[in-house]
Amino acid sequence: MNHSSSELRRDILSGKWVLLAPGRAHRPGETLFHRVPQPVSPARDCPFEASRLQKETPLLFLGSSERDWRILIIENKYPALRPGHTRIQNIPSKFYKVLHAEGYHHILITRDHKKNFSQLSTEDALLVFRAFQTHYQTLARHSSVRYVSFFQNKGIRGGATLYHPHFQILALPIVPSDVEESLLSSHSYFRLHKKCVYCSLLQREREEKKRVIYENERALVFAPFISRQPFEVRVFPKHHSPYFEDEKEDVLRDVSSALQFVLRRMKTRLFDPDYNFFLHSAPVYRKKAHASYHWHIEVVPRLTTAAGFELGTGIDVNVVDPDEAARVLRFRKKIKSLDPKAFNL
Ligand SMILES: [Zn+2]
Ligand SMILES: [Zn+2]
Ligand SMILES: [Zn+2]
Repeated sequence: MNHSSSELRRDILSGKWVLLAPGRAHRPGETLFHRVPQPVSPARDCPFEASRLQKETPLLFLGSSERDWRILIIENKYPALRPGHTRIQNIPSKFYKVLHAEGYHHILITRDHKKNFSQLSTEDALLVFRAFQTHYQTLARHSSVRYVSFFQNKGIRGGATLYHPHFQILALPIVPSDVEESLLSSHSYFRLHKKCVYCSLLQREREEKKRVIYENERALVFAPFISRQPFEVRVFPKHHSPYFEDEKEDVLRDVSSALQFVLRRMKTRLFDPDYNFFLHSAPVYRKKAHASYHWHIEVVPRLTTAAGFELGTGIDVNVVDPDEAARVLRFRKKIKSLDPKAFNL
């Protein structure tokens, strides 16, 4: 797009509008590439060190033995939801819809205090996905669980309160409305075109090429045409696949190494930003009905703050053209300057 103009783009899945305004990247005081250096919090104060977790009963561990775990899943000490009834419980209310927030809130921990997901060996990165997949299958067997959410918060702007790399797993008694919206859109697209909307999107991105950042045999990474945030990316399995919990190991391996690749690129190209990544998969609830969905991972570096316009309209303003975002993240050469001009934005 022409960087002196702006565009309003509407997401065909969520129905949400995005205002792309690349010209605003040059305004004085733009803080896109400003970083406040964050001190490494020492391992001696860390509750996720192996020596401190000895008394915990792991829900799951992967590694050569329980002592030599590489991946550990434990209960969250401060859970947002707790297990309760086997059936979903409504709380009577004349006006509002209220449920008991019963479910599961667990933490997946990788062993090394400093190595984040992108720095793990390919094998350990795959173990993260394998551990989560096994745990997902266990959670999905509970009759009150309708959706399982998996995500990582990295850094203070990403919402992490602990330095040690960890991932969160929340099993919910509802299907989140954002996921519900995408499910409805993917169903209606399928009815109309007899094809998965995400498969069509992947095909389009692979033909156009300019927003593709990386691909291997079974996974594709690209900057979405409708990006709500600067440098937001998606990682998709290339074959049609609605359910993360049923995915084959060779696909998990390629998705996890593609995710590592793009997180490493963000670290070097975007000066180690805080980020969130999260999984979107078809719900556990009425599982068979969601065959037109396509699981994927979204990565959102936390470079901007939603302000009055975003809160007041629900329209995100993005100052980075996704074509340019893909170019920066694909580019082999390191960028030395923090000046947005170095990015040709
Ligand atoms: Zn630690
Ligand atoms: Zn598909
Ligand atoms: Zn998604």
